[in-house]
Amino acid sequence: MSHWESLLVVQGHDTRVDQLEHRLETLPVRGRLAEVAEQIAAVDAQIAAVDARLGDLRRSQQRLEHEVASLSERANQAEKQLYSGSVGNPRELQALQDDVASIRRRISQIEDDELEIMELTEPVDVERADLVAARGRLDAETQRLNDELAETEAEIASELAEERRERDAAAASVPDELWAEYDALRAQLGGVAIARLVGSTCQGCHLALSAVEVDRIRKLSPDEPVHCEECGRLLVRD
Ligand SMILES: [Zn+2]
Repeated sequence: MSHWESLLVVQGHDTRVDQLEHRLETLPVRGRLAEVAEQIAAVDAQIAAVDARLGDLRRSQQRLEHEVASLSERANQAEKQLYSGSVGNPRELQALQDDVASIRRRISQIEDDELEIMELTEPVDVERADLVAARGRLDAETQRLNDELAETEAEIASELAEERRERDAAAASVPDELWAEYDALRAQLGGVAIARLVGSTCQGCHLALSAVEVDRIRKLSPDEPVHCEECGRLLVRD
């Protein structure tokens, strides 16, 4: 095998390595993971908003409970006084009775308010449960996608290792002085430095060389480097 043929074999592996690395960087599952992460952030924001509403409702509820407790205490004290026999004046007794009745009415109103708050809380609790369930599904999806990503990455890593191993084996028979130009051409020409000349067509750029050029190339020694006059790549000729 001429060293141009060896270099073409290396090129084949390098191209495959480039493709695998590109595939690794642009796996669609990464995009899907980013989408799910966005959805999780949105659901978390909704849960935080719902929690804020529930917190407001709970504080209102507690405020009313405290009010009921303190009013009940007042009513109990008044009733104790009423039934203690310590108040003999009928007008004072009447005033005490009116006071107790008024406090009891107020307690009843507040208890209605409490019921109203409980009714308001119920759908918000349901909304929260739905959001938490949605969050759970998104977490499971993230896990599934991460597993898929890890599996695909491992497959590609193993293909890459194999390509690189074969590439290094092929590179061993390429003379050292060819590497500088090969690397420079690869950097300039989208990763492809060397291509086969089939008939008069360069397989690097798929353009035909002039008859004069093809004729000139045929007369050169096989060791002589030849470049495509269209794209500048090294040419491997039969
Ligand atoms: Zn070309």
